[in-house]
Amino acid sequence: MPMLHVERHGRILDEEARDIVSFLEECYDRLRPVGLDIVEIVLFENDRLWHSYMAAERRRAGVTSSDIDAAFIAAHDAWTGIPRISIPLDRRKALAQPVWEGALHHEAGHSILHGSLEYYVFPMPKALANVAHEFRTLTSHLTDILYLLTVAVKDLEVTDLLVSNGYVEDQAAYARFVMKPTEEDQYAWDLSSITAEARVLCLVGKLKDIAAATVLASRSQCPRVGLEEIEDSIRYLPREARTALLDTTTKILNDLGKDTFANIQSGAAVLVARLIGPIMRCPASHELS
Ligand SMILES: [Zn+2]
Repeated sequence: MPMLHVERHGRILDEEARDIVSFLEECYDRLRPVGLDIVEIVLFENDRLWHSYMAAERRRAGVTSSDIDAAFIAAHDAWTGIPRISIPLDRRKALAQPVWEGALHHEAGHSILHGSLEYYVFPMPKALANVAHEFRTLTSHLTDILYLLTVAVKDLEVTDLLVSNGYVEDQAAYARFVMKPTEEDQYAWDLSSITAEARVLCLVGKLKDIAAATVLASRSQCPRVGLEEIEDSIRYLPREARTALLDTTTKILNDLGKDTFANIQSGAAVLVARLIGPIMRCPASHELS
């Protein structure tokens, strides 16, 4: 079991901090990670303190990928080389208990599978470099596409680990929360109809939202989330785009092995073959419902 080092920002009761620590300890105790010595747990009184802390940490580490998603409940990173879970405690009140627990387990899963710096800096997979060679307009978006793909692959791995160890109810609640479409999703898609590469980016960004749900839907022994629920969550997309998105996520999941780096390479090949290639070659087919 790793040592949990707790840091607090703002007014946080001792009891609240102890609750979080013992909740996470149960998870590490169940998953029995090998070679994980220490995890930093950084607690924040509120969202505002969390965002400003993370923004400063991002600058310090030279992280260029986009800021924390407003929908995130908590986050994991290893920018300093040490796995770190950051949690704003004021989010808790607004969430159903299983969603909150699912999110904490999710971040603990990241610390086990992706708890070092190398999981935050990935080399560009060949398949992505090749497709940008074919479609030059993709070149300036490659780093974003890779980032979004790596986040989705890592979420598939984490959910697979947690569900395999019996965290099913909370992961199903968390998966439903994450895939719930927002008004911004619809808006982003409407805006992205301008260019094929904007549509690619928009869809690659959705991979992560349906990743956890896809793992739960793929397991016959625990059908806690149905495929049709996932499809409903992306109903605002044209049928071709929905199918491409579901196909891509399912295929990446089916190909998953133990090695994250290999998973990202094979995930990139699937992404290019099933989603990026078809949209870039025939943009019109993804425009209509
Ligand atoms: Zn995640």
